[in-house]
Amino acid sequence: MDIKRNVLLNPGPSTTTDTVKLAQIVPDICPREKEFADIMAPMRDDLVRIVHGDTKEYTAVLFCGSGTICIDIALNSLLDAGKKALIINNGAYSQRACDICSYYGMPLIEQKQPLDEKPDLQKIEDTLKENPDIGYVYVTYHETGTGLLNPVREIGALAHRYGAFLITDTTSAYAMIPINVYDDNIDFCMASAQKGIMGMTGLSYIIGRRDIIERSKSFPKRSYYCNLYMQYEYFEKTGEMHFTPPVQTIYAARQALKEYFEEGEDAKWARHRRVMNAIRKGIDELNLHEALRREVQSGLVAAIDYPEDPNWDFAKIHDYCYERGFTIYPGKIDGRGGFRLCALGAIDEQDIVDFWKVFKEALESAGVKVPVR
Ligand SMILES: *Cc1c(COP(=O)(O)O)cnc(C)c1O
Repeated sequence: MDIKRNVLLNPGPSTTTDTVKLAQIVPDICPREKEFADIMAPMRDDLVRIVHGDTKEYTAVLFCGSGTICIDIALNSLLDAGKKALIINNGAYSQRACDICSYYGMPLIEQKQPLDEKPDLQKIEDTLKENPDIGYVYVTYHETGTGLLNPVREIGALAHRYGAFLITDTTSAYAMIPINVYDDNIDFCMASAQKGIMGMTGLSYIIGRRDIIERSKSFPKRSYYCNLYMQYEYFEKTGEMHFTPPVQTIYAARQALKEYFEEGEDAKWARHRRVMNAIRKGIDELNLHEALRREVQSGLVAAIDYPEDPNWDFAKIHDYCYERGFTIYPGKIDGRGGFRLCALGAIDEQDIVDFWKVFKEALESAGVKVPVR
């Protein structure tokens, strides 16, 4: 089968290999068969292994849904009665976490921090000191809207010092940036199959400490469908998801995980860095301007300001690139026009070299002066 290859430079879903795409084509199967549970059991362990957890202490709980389902589930399931959530809000994804807590009417301390700089750790420590009833601290590992990398290790250490645990949304870092739940002081993290592992959409997972999940059995239940303990317990008892799983996506994820371990953590991260270096090279050559200093970036997302040229038209540039197999993506910083180039997925340096050629042609055909101002 010949499948057209597109290079996705949007922040997920990512470009996938053909072997992952084709892994979805399987004989029909009822997911309540043991054969299907036997696929998910090693998958859960593999997902823990990616962040170097011991499967006796950490577990992966799978859900059918996009990445946001894990933000929702982790936040609403892990807050005990009489406890408050502390959310470090420095980007669109942590804003989403705040919105989720508000929807549930959960007691929340929202700590706003700058969008383009590392958060102030002293402020976080002061808040923890003043509020001994904080149950967990929540921080986005990598703010995909801007590319900001948060100091999760340091924030996790603070949370632990003050008796709270740490939840981090690693959706746009997991299986890309090497993460170690012990060194990085992570009690819960999460991701989605269409991002780091380069699988298909529809499967997401929370990876976290079994002892806390067990404890959460007695925490207030805020959702029926989106509850961590319920899904965990069902997996432990039956090896299955409580409700219908995304069957084909799980077959693709199995293949994606196989390819992840074949490539290896270090080689994969080196490839992502190679891709980002090629992205940055083009940014510099075209004199484009990034929203964030490179020192505070994850190295997986470049948030680029729109050029100040009367002929710049994002839709036109996007369409020109899209028709040639390259997808670029709008920015996510309020009040600031920009677009993003992301180093996710099954792509390499040469794809970016090819992309910049097309992008430059797009600028020229739109009448944008190159290099830009
Ligand atoms: C992609 C992403 C998500 C999930 O988004 P969905 O559209 O629900 O898949 C969550 N958090 C971060 C940081 C992300 O980059």
